[in-house]
Amino acid sequence: MSIALISHPDCLLHDMGESHPEQAARLQVIFEELVRAGLMDGLKPYLAPLATREQLLRAHSPDYVDAIFAASPKTGLVSLDPDTFMNSHSLTAALRAAGAAILAVRLVISGEVNSAFCNVRPPGHHAERAKAMGFCFFNNVAVAVMHALDHFKLKRIAIIDFDVHHGNGTENIFRQDERVLYCSSFQHPFYPFDGADTVSPHILNIPLPAGADGKVFREKIVEYWLPRIALFEPEMIFFSAGFDAYLFDEMSDLLLTEDDYAWVTAEIRKLADTYAHGRMVSVLEGGYELEGLGRCVAAHIRALGATTDK
Ligand SMILES: [Zn+2]
Repeated sequence: MSIALISHPDCLLHDMGESHPEQAARLQVIFEELVRAGLMDGLKPYLAPLATREQLLRAHSPDYVDAIFAASPKTGLVSLDPDTFMNSHSLTAALRAAGAAILAVRLVISGEVNSAFCNVRPPGHHAERAKAMGFCFFNNVAVAVMHALDHFKLKRIAIIDFDVHHGNGTENIFRQDERVLYCSSFQHPFYPFDGADTVSPHILNIPLPAGADGKVFREKIVEYWLPRIALFEPEMIFFSAGFDAYLFDEMSDLLLTEDDYAWVTAEIRKLADTYAHGRMVSVLEGGYELEGLGRCVAAHIRALGATTDK
């Protein structure tokens, strides 16, 4: 069992202002916890390449990609929405984040590794085909899923998005694409105030009320996701791995724990082993409680199959 850990120092240089919760320290606490937990020896490190324009265009419109490149400032910050800003390094970081997910697809499909975790930022799941929002520029998971579908000719891919916010961008991009089974759990009503009314055979949204804990989360997943994923028989499974539904994350009011993240990962891994040759690609989305974030990611990576030296 080998797991790739993909990142790049450029992802640390994207900075949206001192008090912004989506900050470089998020990636650093994850690395520190993976070291502390003894997981690093079981992971194969890779540097993320830059996603190419051609790769981005599978999930985003040409005008949008051009606009993001044009918006990149030489100095200072430019605002793309009330929460989303670019500094002079943001474009490169966003290209590395999408490039990490693209590399993960190649490594996993070629069999070089069994699965991959991308410790990258900016996150991606709010980025729509032609819109940046919610800290996101390019939809890293959507770009990588399209790479697996178009370049590697896979026919069925499942995306598991357990970030506390609905992945409106991913839903927007795959709304009409039945090759993708998109499973998103999220607090509702809550930003981006979307997804609770979606009716689609291949979009399985689970809105959860404020205060919902792991018991509710697990019951809904057992009822709505696991049987439908098994019927779909995905050839590869992606995680939009956001950890902002964590009990102590002040961004939200859900009450998930490290054990809940380990549980959902282990359940999905069983399906991946049965239908998808164990092929899983996980990409970091949200998660803002710095102390817990590292432990949640470590629990997730352990459940992907990583071994520990302790
Ligand atoms: Zn989130």
